[in-house]
Amino acid sequence: MASHLRNVTLLTPDSAVRFGADIRIEEGRVVQIGDALSPLPGDEVIDARGALCLPGLVNSHNHSPLMIVRGMVEDKGFAPAYTPGVPQGHWLSDEDSLALSRLGVMEMLCAGATTIVDYYRCPEALAQAADDFGLRAIIGGRVMDMDTAALAQGRFERDAALGEATLKAALDVQAKWDGRGRITTMLAPHAPDSCSRDMFREIAALAAQSGKQVHTHLSQSQMEVDQLRAREGLTPTEFLDDLGLLNADLIAAHCIFMSDSDIARFGAARGIVAHAPIGNASFGAAAPIKALRDAGARITICTDTKSADMFEAMRMAIASARWRAGMSFDLDAAEVFGWATTSPAAALKGHAATGRIEVGGPADLILLDPDAPNLRPVIDGFGILAHSGSAANVTDVMVEGEWLVRDRRPTRMDMGAVVAEAQKVAEKLWARARAA
Ligand SMILES: [Zn+2]
Repeated sequence: MASHLRNVTLLTPDSAVRFGADIRIEEGRVVQIGDALSPLPGDEVIDARGALCLPGLVNSHNHSPLMIVRGMVEDKGFAPAYTPGVPQGHWLSDEDSLALSRLGVMEMLCAGATTIVDYYRCPEALAQAADDFGLRAIIGGRVMDMDTAALAQGRFERDAALGEATLKAALDVQAKWDGRGRITTMLAPHAPDSCSRDMFREIAALAAQSGKQVHTHLSQSQMEVDQLRAREGLTPTEFLDDLGLLNADLIAAHCIFMSDSDIARFGAARGIVAHAPIGNASFGAAAPIKALRDAGARITICTDTKSADMFEAMRMAIASARWRAGMSFDLDAAEVFGWATTSPAAALKGHAATGRIEVGGPADLILLDPDAPNLRPVIDGFGILAHSGSAANVTDVMVEGEWLVRDRRPTRMDMGAVVAEAQKVAEKLWARARAA
């Protein structure tokens, strides 16, 4: 069916704000943008009442089943993947993973993300959850072959069986889901410290063979930097470079503890940063994001399984950059809006999103509440979004011409049932963790 959006306030990354626009959508694409267009017979006409209409957001790094520890570990000063005493990833059954993944995906979608990157163990559950809600998703099966409990104590113990099993799960999901619905895949080794050199070699060979992008954590903690120094005599960035993985198809999450030379190297390779300003700040860190940008890196924004609020992430990206680099104003709201739309759409492969609303392009768009007081005044648009916007303002989400959220509710799944199921799984696993 064709849709006719009437009276939107249109904002896209490379244009000024446009009031009173109409948008016609047919067969998943924007076919016309104009002032007071006449609907065609049979069009579904929606009066947006002046609502801000934005391109769908791209959330570039998440692990949706890690919803299990959200709100429980942020004040404890450790990374849950390495720590006993909280529910462990390997306790999750496929059904548990799916329930948690649905919660995470639903939150991201309702917060305005039309394209997400999701990677964790049980990648089948991630793909299924994304497919259930209908958004575009790039799925990675998390591959690792080091014993993380040993790593946390500074010992390197290779677990070859873990490496084989996680790689198999990743390749299985690729074979099954690549190109199915709105799903595609990427290669996702966990991190330089949790994967051996041999594991990364294998990933590099697979990437060369398949053309798949490689997504990993990079320089996320000082511990990782110290461990790579001890194990390889290299920084994590130098290690990836040594393996031939530091290139324009590398998506690196965090990029916090990098030397000036790492930053220059990463920028020269045109690497892609998945910048997680909220998660970083909650652990007391800020990535050198302006230095990375200035060196040539391409920047994308993610919420990394914290609140899925991309507006909050944009705001924190600006605040943390100014905190780290001093009160300089050469990073502004318009630029970070690009980091949440056009920049990831261009940098990430295998999906059709563009991060723009333009004639001929895919109809991936969101509407914000026209009555929201925090979204006024709208003068240039970017400032009010980045400095005052909220995921709670997102009312409607369209992907490829299909409404996936109407009036803040997903259209394909029952919101209350998804929330209740995830709560049940979380209570069960936390009870186990506390009894252990
Ligand atoms: Zn992560």
